[in-house]
Amino acid sequence: EIEIRGLHKSFGDNKVLRGIDLDIARGEVVCVIGPSGSGKSTLLRCVNLLEEPTSGQVFVGGTEVTDLDVDIDAVRRRIGMVFQQFNLFPHLNVTENLTLPQRRVLRRSKARAAAVARENLLRVGLADKADAYPAQLSGGQQQRVAIARALVMGPEVMLFDEPTSALDPELVGEVLSVMRLLAAEGMTMMVVTHEMSFAREVADRVVFMDGGVIVEHGPAAQVVGDPQHERTRNFLMRIL
Ligand code: ATP
Ligand code: MG
Repeated sequence: EIEIRGLHKSFGDNKVLRGIDLDIARGEVVCVIGPSGSGKSTLLRCVNLLEEPTSGQVFVGGTEVTDLDVDIDAVRRRIGMVFQQFNLFPHLNVTENLTLPQRRVLRRSKARAAAVARENLLRVGLADKADAYPAQLSGGQQQRVAIARALVMGPEVMLFDEPTSALDPELVGEVLSVMRLLAAEGMTMMVVTHEMSFAREVADRVVFMDGGVIVEHGPAAQVVGDPQHERTRNFLMRIL
């Protein structure tokens, strides 16, 4: 579903990604871990072309998204992204936040967009918040709305960049539950996270990045439970 080949990304002289190769199969959940500045966000952002790779190739569902002739908007529609900051429109209620992108980008009718919004609010457990404004919701609820907003577009893959890092600890669980549900539904997911319990339980594979390369990857039990590399061990010791 996602294929990353020889991906490099530099910002000026700063070589942030130094040759990333990674395949993610359909329905697979891959967690990406690593120290601050190791290039995790940049890697995700290269997959949906929020950043243009310096070299290398990215394929999503067989389409080369790094092809210069590709329709970027069409590609982005197939890739949902959820950030640490929820970025909901504060002046729009929950339903309006979910219908706007469907109307603008997918040209759906008002009724169809509203129906898809309802469906996905149900999926994230927020059917009763359809008329609420973001400021009236907890951080965990806002993040679940942000996930629903990505889902209404019908993405083939979902990218998550530290989706629980901005949340109070007691709100982390409800967001991880929604992500667990998506994983169980067979969604292909690439998740940058420091939630090692989530990685152990849900991830098919864990990728440890440091200095812009993949140092180690494998089943969660192996990478988190029995890391082979010194750098992985040091990182895990610091965060666990
Ligand atoms: P964190 O855990 O702190 O989120 P990260 O692994 O996600 O870190 P990135 O955000 O990918 O790391 O950043 C990797 C490096 O790329 C950093 O040195 C950062 O300063 C640099 N960088 C990222 N985005 C840009 C940008 N738009 N312009 C210039 N430099 C950037
Ligand atoms: Mg980051």
